[in-house]
Amino acid sequence: MQVTTPTTSDALSAFEERNSRRGRLIGYVRSRTHSFVARQVVTLMGLVLVWAVFDPVIALAAHLTPAVFDLAELGAMRVLVRRLDTPARVDRARAILIGFGLMHSASVAFGVILITSTAPPGDPLLYNLGLLTGLMMNAGVDTRLIYWPNYLRGLVLVLAGVAVLIIDVIRSGNVMAVLPDFVGAAIIMFSTRRLLNITLTTLSKGRMAQREVLLGQQRTEQANLDLTRQKDELLLLSLVARHTQDLVVVTDPKARILWVNTAFEEFFGVTLDQVKGDPPSKYNASPNSDPESLRRIFRAAAERRPYRTPLLVRNGAGEDRWTDFQLVPIIGEGGDIVNAISVQRDITEAREAARQLMEAKLTAEASERTKADFLATMSHEIRTPMNAVIGMADLLGATALDREQKLYAETIRSSADSLLSIINDILDYSKLDAGKLTIDPAPMSLRACISDAVGLLRPQASQKRLTFDLDLSGGIPASVLGDAGRIRQILVNLIGNAIKFTEQGGVSVTARYERVEDAQRAVIEVRDTGPGIPEARLEHIFEKFSQAEGATTRRYGGTGLGLTISRLLARGMGGDITVRSTLGEGSTFTVSLTLPMAERAELPAPRPADPPRSEPDPALLRGLSVLVAEDNRTNRLLVERYLRGLPIGLSFAANGREAVAETLRLAPDVVFMDMSMPEMDGLEATRQIRADPEAPQPRIIALTANAFASDRELCLAAGMDDFLAKPIRRADLLDQLHGVATGVLPPPDATASGGQNR
Ligand code: ADP
Repeated sequence: MQVTTPTTSDALSAFEERNSRRGRLIGYVRSRTHSFVARQVVTLMGLVLVWAVFDPVIALAAHLTPAVFDLAELGAMRVLVRRLDTPARVDRARAILIGFGLMHSASVAFGVILITSTAPPGDPLLYNLGLLTGLMMNAGVDTRLIYWPNYLRGLVLVLAGVAVLIIDVIRSGNVMAVLPDFVGAAIIMFSTRRLLNITLTTLSKGRMAQREVLLGQQRTEQANLDLTRQKDELLLLSLVARHTQDLVVVTDPKARILWVNTAFEEFFGVTLDQVKGDPPSKYNASPNSDPESLRRIFRAAAERRPYRTPLLVRNGAGEDRWTDFQLVPIIGEGGDIVNAISVQRDITEAREAARQLMEAKLTAEASERTKADFLATMSHEIRTPMNAVIGMADLLGATALDREQKLYAETIRSSADSLLSIINDILDYSKLDAGKLTIDPAPMSLRACISDAVGLLRPQASQKRLTFDLDLSGGIPASVLGDAGRIRQILVNLIGNAIKFTEQGGVSVTARYERVEDAQRAVIEVRDTGPGIPEARLEHIFEKFSQAEGATTRRYGGTGLGLTISRLLARGMGGDITVRSTLGEGSTFTVSLTLPMAERAELPAPRPADPPRSEPDPALLRGLSVLVAEDNRTNRLLVERYLRGLPIGLSFAANGREAVAETLRLAPDVVFMDMSMPEMDGLEATRQIRADPEAPQPRIIALTANAFASDRELCLAAGMDDFLAKPIRRADLLDQLHGVATGVLPPPDATASGGQNR
């Protein structure tokens, strides 16, 4: 943007305006107006002269006519000049003025011809030529303002002059007598024209010069202004550099300090004079600075590239401070470093804040983990006594009780079952939350898995007189790759809920298999005719400990964890669970799971004949030696009661160390080994037994409250043969014993084992 002082730019625009088409027209009108009176005075003098010398009538006619036209032209000009606001109006005014100019000069021509024709030949010649020359000069000079009106006006005047001479020749009848007048007139014309040319050229040059001067003036002013602005800007920049809180150093091409700002002086407790000429590294490093950072700064400076790094420096008070160091080389036109500027910002506090934030985050994560571990430990700890409660309630139920006592025992048993399922949920959830729960895909039959879950719950539906439909016709392949245990867990939860909340009507389960491009998924829908879930609660029921209504807990029980766990599991299997529901009509839960197809051959072979679930023949167990390693006294008592009366040798160990010793001493056929025991745990005890070539090798079965596949793998890896999750049922113990006694279960050193885990 061009900025000039008002005077120059005003003068320049006034100049441009004056020299525009419109401006020149206005100038012309002004000039004609100014000279109007002078013209009339000359005319009056001519009139008086001709009146006195020749004839009053001729004088009047020859002078009043041009005076009238002059007045008319003046009037027209005054009117036209008032409205010149558009270029079209300017053009029109010029055309009109051509007419008036022509009329005026024609009237002058008429005057001089009239005088020439009536006066004695040759007498008024000089007067006429003088008059015409004067007017021509005027017109000629005015061509610079407006060309055509004045050019034509001049032409008419020249023609009038020629006419005057011709009339003189005709009237005198002697060419020779008039010849000197001709030549004189020609000389006057020629000189006039020359004079005019010179005048016009001078005027035009003057105008150009004036314009140049104005433009030059404008340029000078602009340059002045730019200079002032640059000065101001420089001043401002130096103010910023001087007063910023950042430490600023300017160095010369040899990397010696040229200038430092006040912040630098204060930070290092030095003055500019003291540091001038020093290498900046003398200041911007600390004995504790990372030498590699310093080397990188030097390298960047040598390579003339900008560089930024956090840098530890020691301030004037001897404290180490962290700074954000930035190096900016200023490269000259020749490519050499002219200066380098370094800017350092003290970021000690910011770094400390970031560190604290990170620490807080780590602490939060650790406490999150602690929470999950606590939940897991707690539920494990609860599970151990629950084992005893359930077992004892079972034993109590089997004794001779009256009706009331039987009711109490059953209540203890069913309450313990509910408590156990809550604990299982919490354990599952805490493991899922801590990311510890794994999904173990293996070839499986999806149909069998769904049928299993349905079979488990169908009796509950019949008990409530609910209909139960199962539709597996949706193109489910024979074998898919998935974690059957986890899928069953999801289905048991969804179908269990459907039955739990439905009072009338029924539940239906449909499954289909979809192949969309690369994705192969199973979609299982569990539909019920229950109470439905209010729209606003639909998403919340998947949140932990969340139930659709508070009253639900009181009416149906439950923890509000089932759906949370199921959804986490489904998502862990590349799917999800969604729900649609209409209040009063029912709900539909849809599980989608990514389950790639597997070869049928990959399906695990069905287990050989399952050990009989009915009470085995006690005689078969005769002579079997059984060792139970369990630290919990009540649980030992429980096993003792479960196995009481059988023809077996039963002994106990209270920790892993005793278990090893007793195994060596008694050479038992079967060891039931608790996993966690004081002094030595079951895993270590097993390892020692298996590692000892002298030791007898019994079948070792883990007894544990840790009910996960990972625990099972740990047990097997330690050398155990099978795995029983607490709470232990008498039937499970008998199955194991019977299996060993009849040789159905594999010998101790075989690695294969039947799964007892969930
Ligand atoms: P829980 O059943 O242990 O309370 P869930 O996470 O399985 O916990 O379910 C959460 C809540 O979602 C339930 O308390 C209930 O309010 C609602 N809900 C789940 N399934 C159904 C269903 N089929 N019909 C109506 N409400 C349901």
